Amino acid sequence: MAIDKAKIEKAVRMILEAIGEDPDREGLRDTPRRVADMFEELLEGYELNGEYTWFTESSDLVVVSGIRFYSLCEHHLLPFLGVAHVAYLPRGKVIGLSKVVRIVRKYTRRLQIQERMTMQIADEMIKATGSPDVMVVTEAVHLCMAMRGVKTPAPTVVAAVRGAFATDKSLKEEVYKIIEPHRFRGFPL
Ligand code: ZN
Repeated sequence: MAIDKAKIEKAVRMILEAIGEDPDREGLRDTPRRVADMFEELLEGYELNGEYTWFTESSDLVVVSGIRFYSLCEHHLLPFLGVAHVAYLPRGKVIGLSKVVRIVRKYTRRLQIQERMTMQIADEMIKATGSPDVMVVTEAVHLCMAMRGVKTPAPTVVAAVRGAFATDKSLKEEVYKIIEPHRFRGFPL
């Protein structure tokens, strides 16, 4: 996504004015530029250090769990954040942990809704692994809900269940068992 930072700066200045703030006061003077820089960073995929990520590989099941992510809700431009768990049955090809993390990054670092994001990660995993058997679970708290008091900030859970994971119930349960210790309990992250 190409970002027009000058335009964001102009828009943020207008928002500050519309709120009734003085955009030239000291604390706000650099805010439009900071926000533009922030959007550039938040909306551009980059590597996660993997610190909170677990890799479990049994004979025919690979699970990468607890991948922390931060995304931006496209309805309110507020963060939603949590963890993603990605499982697949390799068809002769195991992809690296960093590749899985990169795929998660690719679809979280953009304006999103959690449901679409989860489906996109699953679709990309199918492409990357050449296996139709993919399961992705994401758990997130949405600040647009938490801050506005519409709902208690309990994590929203979305699952994309494809191929054998959809037809084999015990396989799906196996994934939930493996990810259980790494599930997102909400704040604090
Ligand atoms: Zn929202």
